Amino acid sequence: MKKRALPAVEGGQPVREDFLPFALPSIGEKEIEEVVDTLRSGWLTVGPKTKRFAEMVAVYIGVERAAALSSCTAGLHLGMRVLGVGQGDEVILPALNFIAGPNCAIHLGATPVLVDVDPDTLNVTPETVAAAITERTKLVVPVHFGGRPVDIDGIMEVARSRGIPVLGDAAHAMGADYGGRKVGSVADATSFSFYVTKGITTGEGGSLTSPNADLIERVTVLSLHGMTGSAWNRYSERGSWFYEVQEPGYKYNMTDIEAALGIHQMEKVNEFRERREEIARAFDSGLRPKDAISVPAPCGSCKHAWHLYPIQLEPDLLKIDRDSFIKNLRDEGIGTSVHFIPVHYHGYYGKRLDYGRGSFPVTEEFFERAVSLPIYPSMSDGDVNDVIEAVCKLVDYYRR
Ligand SMILES: *Cc1c(COP(=O)(O)O)cnc(C)c1O
Repeated sequence: MKKRALPAVEGGQPVREDFLPFALPSIGEKEIEEVVDTLRSGWLTVGPKTKRFAEMVAVYIGVERAAALSSCTAGLHLGMRVLGVGQGDEVILPALNFIAGPNCAIHLGATPVLVDVDPDTLNVTPETVAAAITERTKLVVPVHFGGRPVDIDGIMEVARSRGIPVLGDAAHAMGADYGGRKVGSVADATSFSFYVTKGITTGEGGSLTSPNADLIERVTVLSLHGMTGSAWNRYSERGSWFYEVQEPGYKYNMTDIEAALGIHQMEKVNEFRERREEIARAFDSGLRPKDAISVPAPCGSCKHAWHLYPIQLEPDLLKIDRDSFIKNLRDEGIGTSVHFIPVHYHGYYGKRLDYGRGSFPVTEEFFERAVSLPIYPSMSDGDVNDVIEAVCKLVDYYRR
């Protein structure tokens, strides 16, 4: 019964009957009750729960204050703005990236300057960042790819020596640390995502953290049109109707319905990360023996958030390419994804930035070969074994 060598694509028996989705949130009864409580309370949008959630994030990260926002993208946009990005500036970002960061730079009138990543960590390095700095560079926005912390000290040293701040894109990295210091506590500002697939979720949501509490105060005001005195202050019993706008802002606040989820997700952030790490270890030992694929490099003394577990196919050793590998896995009952389409491959950026194919060899080769496997806390050990079994089955069948 166990040896089903023929892939489902070829008419063989699939590893799973029911489909394992690529990602699923872990929502408990406490989250559900808290949302219902919010709905019954009459206070639906930014209010007491949003404030409590922001405080929980700040305490967890180890900073004085955090801003609760509508998304990580909102945090990147506001972070770029308060760190001084404007018309004609350059912002350094990885080419292996989601388009949120580059889009925000464009919206502020700046030019995204892309850099390649390290083949082992898939992160930008102090060297690649240093090589891209010009006199127009206003900001560096490294991504903690997949949840693996970047070399923040090295990058900050390179940037600071030229007076350039660093804004971390930690969409993948809630719970990650550099040997004791949490991601989000070191860079000038750091943006987290609570989108449904990310480490913890509020459905949609994000947070900006910073060691600088004044910066977070300014971001919080800008997240509500730039109005001093939040809605909660205005409409609550002791509030005042008065507000003033010192600089025009955006509508980027989190809501209490979202924060209701977040409060109980934050209670489980370590537990979730540990389960993700357990799954990563199981993948490591199950998949490392296969020479036709490679697994993520070890993380050393840092804590990896394991938002993603990308394997890379060795094209010389396999008879099928990445896209058919993904199709095969789907037919075996395993959902997967690819992170990311390189920024300069998107039509707009290809034209706007004038980077041809071959500009970022590591990013481009990774994109050709990468498959992100499902990795989330609600996967059972059986699910984890099914993923390993399906990948091994295909690798063995299609090995040259
Ligand atoms: C998901 C993601 C974002 C955007 O997060 P939202 O909360 O959806 O705005 C930004 N950067 C990276 C690298 C991401 O993966």
